[in-house]
Amino acid sequence: MGELSYVVALDQGTTSSRSIVFDSNQQVVGVAQREFTQFFPQEGWVEHDPREIWATQYGTMNEAVAASGIDPARIAAIGITNQRETTIIWDRATGEPIYDAIVWQCRRTASIVDELTRQPGMTEHIKAATGLLPDAYFSATKIRWILDHVEGARQRAEAGELAFGTVDSWLVWNLTGGAVHVTDVTNASRTMLYDIHLLDWDDEILRALDIPRALLPEVRSNSEIYGYANFMGRKIPVAGMAGDQQAALFGQGCFAAGDAKSTYGTGCFLLMNTGDKVVDSQNGLLSTIACQIDGKTNYALEGSVFVGGSVIQWLRDGLGIISSSAESGQRAASVPDTGGVYLVPAFTGLGAPWWDMYARGTIVGITRGTTADHIIRAADEAIAYQVADLVEAMEKDTGTPLTALRVDGGATRDAFLMQFQSDILGKQVLRPRILETTALGAAYLAGLATGVWGSLDEISHLWSLGKQFDPAMGRDEAVRLTDGWHRAVERSRGWAQAS
Ligand code: ADP
Repeated sequence: MGELSYVVALDQGTTSSRSIVFDSNQQVVGVAQREFTQFFPQEGWVEHDPREIWATQYGTMNEAVAASGIDPARIAAIGITNQRETTIIWDRATGEPIYDAIVWQCRRTASIVDELTRQPGMTEHIKAATGLLPDAYFSATKIRWILDHVEGARQRAEAGELAFGTVDSWLVWNLTGGAVHVTDVTNASRTMLYDIHLLDWDDEILRALDIPRALLPEVRSNSEIYGYANFMGRKIPVAGMAGDQQAALFGQGCFAAGDAKSTYGTGCFLLMNTGDKVVDSQNGLLSTIACQIDGKTNYALEGSVFVGGSVIQWLRDGLGIISSSAESGQRAASVPDTGGVYLVPAFTGLGAPWWDMYARGTIVGITRGTTADHIIRAADEAIAYQVADLVEAMEKDTGTPLTALRVDGGATRDAFLMQFQSDILGKQVLRPRILETTALGAAYLAGLATGVWGSLDEISHLWSLGKQFDPAMGRDEAVRLTDGWHRAVERSRGWAQAS
């Protein structure tokens, strides 16, 4: 290979904007990160200021490139990955948002979803067309809310004066100085407005929510030149984008049907590439688009757990029984087992495969001998049990056993957790050398479109193992422990009362 070239990945997350400069050997040569403000205007509402999203993202891009010390002339492309579903509407003429970004976590539109799903056949239609279960989480009802609550918005949307976008669209718009209004198929597939089979916006859902098509971005593939950013006096192609979980799937080299990865961050997300087939889950998983490159679309099954690594933060900040996240694994390993204790971290209900919004956190099996270390271990183990439940749901839906699980995210630093995950699954757990797989996925997508990397095949050879965890526990023991977990889950379910 000749001289190194560079790709800048913009990783726009829920709490911070990050930029990472990778060289063509996928070494990280510069990183910058900035947090931004979370607004909670009412109970259950979450907003971001789109201008602050852009300012922090652009700021970190400048800082990361400066920190890397590279010549900006050697930057081949910019790739984007982003918090999904978060909804922004702006004025096409001025580029000014007409309202704050309504964040994926925001529950304000629950009643719009209830109204929508009261229409006969609508729930089935949404599931069939979009692969999603109707929920306030997705963008569709958030758009509807803004159009209903900002004066004159609907008329202006109909007249084509306004633009809707998820965060990817917003960043491309700003990077290109307002020249380009696009999204990619993975982000589109999280709006609950996009037909993942026909690869087009769905008129029936648009009509039901009274959302004009004129508002919507053009939907493009994950790897192509969308436009050019003016950066440090140069024009740099913006050439790849994908929602965060899909970018991580790509960054893990999961290009073939049956490949899966699990991300252990605040929550946990398991995605499996299902090839060119949309699998209709019978076990509470969502169908979504994994990736589209050169006209070829791959789909994925997705399962999510609400409380993953954040149960460790709760041990630290809520209970105060550990002083740092890193302590959790050591304390868990300091006892041979939990002494029969299970902790179900259903703090905000349970996601897949249970979908119980009335479940609440539970600790069961406490005896006189229970210590803080047992509780810590039970919390750590709970992360693994929840992911194991997702793996089981996925195997039932696809009829194919997972061979090995590729993992990433902050909590994969916990070696105890990774070993326990392997033990409970009875499968290999593979932790890559680069844990920044989300940003790496965005970089790969942008680099593929601009010749930094030649092919998927070349990229799949770049994946390299950091550490492998092999199952060491007998299957009988794993099954016995998992049965106990399921009994504990039963205790947590339906606890909160509907108000
Ligand atoms: P996100 O992208 O969702 O912010 P990250 O991938 O940065 O999440 O991971 C953060 C999560 O990982 C936190 O919830 C934290 O508790 C957990 N975590 C970080 N380091 C460790 C560790 N050494 N052991 C266990 N959990 C950890």
